[in-house]
Amino acid sequence: AKDRGRAHYRYYQQQMNLSFPNEALMESHLRRAIEKEELSIHFQPQVDLVTDEINSFEALLRWNNRKFGYVTPMQFIPLAEESGMIMQIGDWVLEEVCIQLKYWQEKGHRPVRIAVNISPKQFKQENFAMKILEKINKYQISPCSLEVEITESAMTDMQDTFAMLKELKDIGVIISIDDFGTGYSSLSYLKKYPIDIIKIDQSFIKDIESDEKNAAIATMIIRLAHSLGMEVIAEGVEKDKQVDILKAANCQKAQGYFFSRPIPIADINEAYM
Ligand code: C2E
Ligand code: CA
Ligand code: CA
Ligand code: CA
Repeated sequence: AKDRGRAHYRYYQQQMNLSFPNEALMESHLRRAIEKEELSIHFQPQVDLVTDEINSFEALLRWNNRKFGYVTPMQFIPLAEESGMIMQIGDWVLEEVCIQLKYWQEKGHRPVRIAVNISPKQFKQENFAMKILEKINKYQISPCSLEVEITESAMTDMQDTFAMLKELKDIGVIISIDDFGTGYSSLSYLKKYPIDIIKIDQSFIKDIESDEKNAAIATMIIRLAHSLGMEVIAEGVEKDKQVDILKAANCQKAQGYFFSRPIPIADINEAYM
């Protein structure tokens, strides 16, 4: 039995490690991933901790290569960023998300929002807001059904960042700060930029039930966000005890494996729509 367990484990490991032998090969496959229809998007529900309702999802990119199997975003997003392919891929994600929003809107579903991860390179394009506006117009979706998740690391240049966020805000899309608290940036931008939502990084939520320091930080972020008139979403919630603590701290929304893993759109339609 022990041997079988080992063999099974090894098989699993092999599956996991079935990766590209080198970056150049991964890059050449990634280049054709869109046309070969190897990319897809999974959606992770964000749960309203007060009403238990689900009215928003985060879009997370998935790549299933024909030859090498699943490649995690942690592996291919950095490569896509270095090579500049993230522009095309990010554009594809935005397009797919708008198509989905349009579909729900036409079906007469209740208003639902989808959050899209925006890489720093995308955000720094001068015409980024214009591109967003074009898609919103093309699909005739409500601007506030689209949320852009931007990390602190994308907000290096104060003037440019402010101008871009202002443009996005004027269009009416929702702006959130992803991985909040991990970007080593000053807090002063919170009062200058038109930010709607702060997403507490999962490193602070992990062990929040046993780590007093993490609990203190998360609680502080929630209070800070509220006093600035922003919404808060806690990420990486895996246990019911974490939910209890977040509720006690007045956190409005949470996402994580405790509620649901990121799942294909067909399953979202079946389970939530
Ligand atoms: P992120 O934006 O911080 O996304 C959250 C990550 O945490 C996702 O990993 C999600 O699957 C995972 N997660 C969700 N709930 C839990 C939980 O309860 N516990 C744990 N341990 N993890 C949880 P994923 O999908 O592998 O994505 C990793 C990163 O790749 C994302 O981090 C984001 O930075 C990037 N990414 C994913 N999709 C896109 C995309 O379309 N565009 C860009 N630019 N980046 C993307
Ligand atoms: Ca995110
Ligand atoms: Ca995050
Ligand atoms: Ca991240």
